[in-house]
Amino acid sequence: MSEGPGPDCPRCPRLVEFRERYRRAEPRWHNAPVPSFGELTARLLIVGLAPGLKGANRTGRPFTGDYAGDLLYATLETFELATGTYGERADDGFRLRDCRVTNAVRCVPPENKPEPKEIAACNGFLVAEIAAMPRLKVVLALGAIAHGAVLTALGERKSAFPFKHGAIRALKTGVLLADSYHCSRYNTNTRVLTTEMFEAVFAEIRRRLGAG
Ligand code: URA
Repeated sequence: MSEGPGPDCPRCPRLVEFRERYRRAEPRWHNAPVPSFGELTARLLIVGLAPGLKGANRTGRPFTGDYAGDLLYATLETFELATGTYGERADDGFRLRDCRVTNAVRCVPPENKPEPKEIAACNGFLVAEIAAMPRLKVVLALGAIAHGAVLTALGERKSAFPFKHGAIRALKTGVLLADSYHCSRYNTNTRVLTTEMFEAVFAEIRRRLGAG
């Protein structure tokens, strides 16, 4: 079992304060650490940055109801890493196949920007997550912060593996670390990341996963 943070995780005072503010303002929202989505038996783990305020923090499922989730989940459908229809809500019946989605930071940060100490404080949950996935073969980091969090979680030096969109590198545990620019609204609007670029990353991951 991978024990994620409890609903009242106290590790990051700034995030606790933000969470409490939103519990008062939006009592129907999730407003708690967002648990990972997908089975622990999956071979692919996708690591995002942190829950979006009105997306995952509202719905309680990573990337769900977030702009970034539209591209992510459409791409997972294209590559048969999901079944059902993504409906932007946690009870839409959408399921991941051989794939799990988590975040480097489990709580929503103000302005979508976690501080380095918050990324560090949440890293133990990523360590536990990875340790609890017995068939894990590929970790896809969405953006440089997720990339750094994965390297920390796996005990690698960041200088040995600079973030590089499209790269797939073997780490010492044997796990492959794949990098993509984050599928955020900003990156897609500015065409830092296009649908074609994102699909190329998944095509290569699919190839590396093989039939398995
Ligand atoms: N929603 C998430 O859950 N994670 C991200 O990185 C972005 C949006």
